[in-house]
Amino acid sequence: MAKKISYQNFTFEEYIPEQQILDVVKNIATQIENDLSGQKPLFIGVLNGSFRFLNDLFSHFTMDCEVEFVKLKSYERTESTGKVTELIGLRDPLKDRVVVVVEDIIDTGLTMANVINDVLAMNPKEVKVATMFLKPEIYKGALMPDYVGMEVPPEFIVGYGLDIDGLGRNLNSVYKKIDSVPLELSKKKGMLNIVLFGPPGCGKGTQSAILKDKYDLVHISTGDVFRGLDPDSELAKLAKSYADKGNLVPDDITIKILQSEVKKYPNARGVIYDGFPRTSAQAEALDVFLKSKGGAVSCMLELEVEENELRTRLKGRAMGSGRPDDADPAVIQNRIDVYNTQTAPVAGFYKTQGKHKSINGIGSVEDVSERLFHNLEEVIA
Ligand code: 5GP
Repeated sequence: MAKKISYQNFTFEEYIPEQQILDVVKNIATQIENDLSGQKPLFIGVLNGSFRFLNDLFSHFTMDCEVEFVKLKSYERTESTGKVTELIGLRDPLKDRVVVVVEDIIDTGLTMANVINDVLAMNPKEVKVATMFLKPEIYKGALMPDYVGMEVPPEFIVGYGLDIDGLGRNLNSVYKKIDSVPLELSKKKGMLNIVLFGPPGCGKGTQSAILKDKYDLVHISTGDVFRGLDPDSELAKLAKSYADKGNLVPDDITIKILQSEVKKYPNARGVIYDGFPRTSAQAEALDVFLKSKGGAVSCMLELEVEENELRTRLKGRAMGSGRPDDADPAVIQNRIDVYNTQTAPVAGFYKTQGKHKSINGIGSVEDVSERLFHNLEEVIA
């Protein structure tokens, strides 16, 4: 039985034992030393999490090398906030230096991209990236780190420098979070309530239509509802004024619209929520609303597609759809930014409930549907 520990309200079980970590670090140190020997590299540790990895790397180096630190924050509790705040920046000149950025873990890759940008602006001779852990199912960046200790699944981990609310860094093994509310609980709730989630252009509309037919569900897209309102009504004008700029319609309006849509289908076998909830407040309101009807969200299926691909898809869609929010690159960018800052954290809401499933949204429509079917069967079974 794996060793279990608890932090806050979460339970973690041992996932990577200490000796395995130390062996991997030694291996990376040897590779780096072989690649950079004689170059006096400067290692830039990304605080706080990388301190143990960096320390263990240094214990193996025999070459001349130096160390500096930057400190950034992109996580709140167990979720990425989608933005990076710099707490301690770079001070020393990096011109013509060989730099190795050292990360504890690359998740979305936002932190790494931020540091690399800053480093490159200082004209180094060469930049390399070493990370102890990488979450390949989440990281969709084009730049792969030069040295990766271990690939890990999307679940939140602690230990070996990685923390939850500041705790757990002292653990010598790495522990993985176990979902707090298992999916089985929601399976017993009867009506299926599926939140189909993902950035603009990820394929939510297309896939919703397929899921709706296959599983005999009702598809509610708040975007479609807003676009389908009588264009002369006050509500339609108000919604349009936000949507045309790529901004979110305020929560109170969206929640009311959603509730009245759901009430139109009292005998539905289930509902696919497409484009809702888009903020944490909406997610909370949906929970309260469904609870009042004796139900609950069954699962959130998140379609993961990287930003460049989204831009290309939205540009393509604009030609056929005539949607003003698809045509203008500035509006597209704002929609992606709004998604990253306001909407992406909603996934965290469902991750904490153990209801979140991440699905690769790249590939043919059929391939993505198959992945969704596979994940949904587990919920329906
Ligand atoms: P990124 O910017 O790549 O999304 O995230 C990088 C930072 O987020 C890491 O340096 C770390 O502080 C935090 N982080 C990402 N995933 C995890 C995780 O599974 N566990 C912990 N403890 N922190 C993580």
